[in-house]
Amino acid sequence: MIIPCYNEESVLPITAPMFLQKLEQLEKDGKIHEDSRILFVNDGSKDRTWEIIKELSEKDIRYQGIAQSRNRGHQNAVLAGLMEAKDQADITISIDCDGQDDINAMDKMVDAYLDGAEVVYGVRSKRDTDTFFKRFTAESFYHLMNWMGAEVVFNHADYRLVSSKVLEAFSDFKEVNIFLRGMFPLVGFKSTSVYYERRERIAGESHYPLKKMLALAFDGITSLSIKPIRLITGLGAVISGLGFLAIIWAIVMQVLGHTVAGWASLVCIVAFLGGIQLLSLGVIGEYIGKIYLETKARPRYIISERTSDEKRNRKES
Ligand code: UDP
Ligand code: MG
Repeated sequence: MIIPCYNEESVLPITAPMFLQKLEQLEKDGKIHEDSRILFVNDGSKDRTWEIIKELSEKDIRYQGIAQSRNRGHQNAVLAGLMEAKDQADITISIDCDGQDDINAMDKMVDAYLDGAEVVYGVRSKRDTDTFFKRFTAESFYHLMNWMGAEVVFNHADYRLVSSKVLEAFSDFKEVNIFLRGMFPLVGFKSTSVYYERRERIAGESHYPLKKMLALAFDGITSLSIKPIRLITGLGAVISGLGFLAIIWAIVMQVLGHTVAGWASLVCIVAFLGGIQLLSLGVIGEYIGKIYLETKARPRYIISERTSDEKRNRKES
């Protein structure tokens, strides 16, 4: 289990034992190995969070912790945890530490993995406990993302099971601006969703006020999609078309003699330039978009399975 923590001194002492209990139960049910671990990622907390994590790990070896040198945000904290666990675990489950995500969904997640899924998304079935404002803003967030061409699983945050195979492929995504919930669908592999009800925070406050959520949406859109640039190109085409009509209109008016001297030529120039400028910006933008995607140097293909291990064996011998 990968658990990011930022200023969570009020929740961690309550939820840590809950996670451990879940781990024990999954072990007892024979679903996971007895060497399974809980990995807390301290995201540069300014309170006692890291001390609490250290105390926990002294008490029980199954609690482990890593600390980021400073606060880098939730996404980077989860990434740090996933990369730390990649070579040591067959599966990882990332979950928030505030008790909002129902830990009992883990059973279904592991079952889905055992059934062959490599990525299992935890999806909120209801948001009854969220305030109307939070629910509205959060759901608009997903709509906006999809509309802008950043494909995300609706109402899925970062509660997710990922196999080491997927993490291995994912580690080839070297980009710096990361938006995990939009990137795992890009990696591919067999995936499925399990549904759970989102609860209220056990204690403490949300670190995702509207401002941060907008920043996250903006980050997600700009790092996953170049659709905003396409919109400019489209707008350029529309304005050019309108400009063309305006020019015809100005000429007709001039010919009919309804105009002041100089008006028609001015309108023609303004309409022409407006359209050309926006269209050119769009074209330049298209190239910048391409450059942007190239600089990410994302893997061009990912192989998920092979019929034989011949290739690997040859490499080893
Ligand atoms: N978090 C983090 N770094 C941050 C902000 C949040 O690691 O800069 C962690 C936080 O400790 C929690 C999770 O990310 O485990 C989700 O944050 P929060 O509960 O505040 O967001 P919400 O559930 O309200 O969207
Ligand atoms: Mg929360």
